[in-house]
Amino acid sequence: MKRGSHILPVMESFYSIQGEGYHSGKPAFFVRLAGCNVKCTWCDVKESWSIYENQYVKIEEIVEKINKHSTDLVIITGGEPFYHDLGPLTSMLKENNKLVHVETSGTEKYSGEFDWICLSPKRFKKPLEEYYDMANELKVIVYQDSDFRWAERISSKVKKDAIRILQPEWSVEKRINPKILSYIKLNPNWRISLQTHKYLKVD
Ligand code: SF4
Repeated sequence: MKRGSHILPVMESFYSIQGEGYHSGKPAFFVRLAGCNVKCTWCDVKESWSIYENQYVKIEEIVEKINKHSTDLVIITGGEPFYHDLGPLTSMLKENNKLVHVETSGTEKYSGEFDWICLSPKRFKKPLEEYYDMANELKVIVYQDSDFRWAERISSKVKKDAIRILQPEWSVEKRINPKILSYIKLNPNWRISLQTHKYLKVD
């Protein structure tokens, strides 16, 4: 169930490090919103698909919790964050001088104000066209060989200067990592991202 934008369903929120993608290694506060209609078979946060009544939190409370931590970087993730109107939350975060990043499949209508948009498209549900121009980073999860061809098709749609990243799907990373390494050596406009938080066992 979707609600108004001044209260949002938070599955979890925590201070940690960004483990993957272009900003890997930076300390950040994560807000994981519940709700996702994409339903990737290999999703590692299936608990985030459904929204429960007791998850709804006022955006003031979300920001208050973030302000207790020393980072200026806030990463909104999910689920699919744009399942909700993120305008009021991101305005409040900007008023509090935060850098606001989002990780999205691009399948829901865009809202809010972000400093960095990581588009992580999924083959299970196509991104909306508007995301291709906005993406600062294109992060494609590679699960099988045909994902390389698909990554190139998506890559042809995003901005020239967007960072292009291939990331192994965690459950097949041992098998797929060598293929990604060979691929980026031949196609150096791509780089590899590993989920370092999983190697480090960081929540
Ligand atoms: Fe899971 Fe993200 Fe896919 Fe939604 S878009 S099913 S949260 S991996």
